[in-house]
Amino acid sequence: MVHPVLRRVLSSGFKSVSLKPHIALQGGVASLTSEHWSLLRECGIRCVLFDRDNTLAVPQNASNEVKDSHISKNSPRADDFFSEGVAASVSACRKVFQDSPAATPRVAIFSNASCNTGVSSTHRDRANRFVKGLDVPLLTASGWYERDAVLPFSDELGRKLKKLGADDFRKPGLAATCLLEGALAERFGVRLEETAYVGDRVLTDVMFANLSGMLSIWTGPLVPEASGVLRGILALERITVMRGARQQTRTTHPLVSHEVSARIESQSANK
Ligand SMILES: [Mg+2]
Repeated sequence: MVHPVLRRVLSSGFKSVSLKPHIALQGGVASLTSEHWSLLRECGIRCVLFDRDNTLAVPQNASNEVKDSHISKNSPRADDFFSEGVAASVSACRKVFQDSPAATPRVAIFSNASCNTGVSSTHRDRANRFVKGLDVPLLTASGWYERDAVLPFSDELGRKLKKLGADDFRKPGLAATCLLEGALAERFGVRLEETAYVGDRVLTDVMFANLSGMLSIWTGPLVPEASGVLRGILALERITVMRGARQQTRTTHPLVSHEVSARIESQSANK
């Protein structure tokens, strides 16, 4: 049997391997307003997933200099801090992707930092600050982490994931796609094609979203990476995205037209 991701790659004529995002934001997550989320919802997007580090907040491995410049009076640690703009955008997103006041918003965080191991005791405080502060669950390989507890997957999904025999569910691996496919269907009743993935990295977030059939929204990093090698890779990633934008070549998504992508990008750039 052909793996679903490979089948998708073959049937798209390798276009899904593209490193070009469907939407490239100049202003990061904070530039996405209620109007933009609604526009995506009208196109048929029903669920939104966010990367965490350098998309929503300063990463833990950022230099002390960078962290010092992001210390907030509301947060004792820079890497726990998400800006008001980010919090407002995630809050607007929750409202748009919630069918009724009693329904669960179809919004979550999927981060490589915690998807394999779950939330360890050393990272629990940090995870709680995100889950509670933004009011969104964190998806891990063993279940949904929300408010100090893990809500495990159903036995059926647990067995299916175990059968994969994978011990690494990090992006952009195929096991991560299988995890998301099962977990999103079970909790939100949505397909990957109806899901948007928002992240700062091209080689992980964008490629993962494209391979998995999701709408890829690239934010660029919030702050410079600590390692010199990574800074070089990020510069190349930015060149790839900007060259795609200049040439006006876009990866095609079945639900979101190029016109809608361009409209969101230009409004984001002007914010
Ligand atoms: Mg990131």
